[in-house]
Amino acid sequence: MHETGLSEAIVAAAVRRAAGRRVSGLRVRIGGHPVDPDVVTQGIQVAAAGTVVADAAVDLILEPMTVQCHGCGRSAPVHDHLAMVACPGCGGVDIDVSGSDDVVLESITVDSAELRAV
Ligand SMILES: [Zn+2]
Repeated sequence: MHETGLSEAIVAAAVRRAAGRRVSGLRVRIGGHPVDPDVVTQGIQVAAAGTVVADAAVDLILEPMTVQCHGCGRSAPVHDHLAMVACPGCGGVDIDVSGSDDVVLESITVDSAELRAV
């Protein structure tokens, strides 16, 4: 996953939804491939510089995909890319990976005082 493009997309969506209001917080749900929350948060802050999202607190919710192994019956959340190739328990490759890989901007918090001012 390209964290930079991801961060820019999240910021762009937040800016659109804010419609000129200053954003004090945003909540983002990231499903699928494991990402480094620090990298994503930092990317969002960089992408947000100079926008209404610049000072927003970033709240990330990570929802990893689940891998189900047909060999040993193991079912577990995916925490690294290797687990999507072979079962972390038995090394078998007869696995199913399920879950959503959507990235969703769940909500934003806008400064209501500034909303009245506008
Ligand atoms: Zn297994």
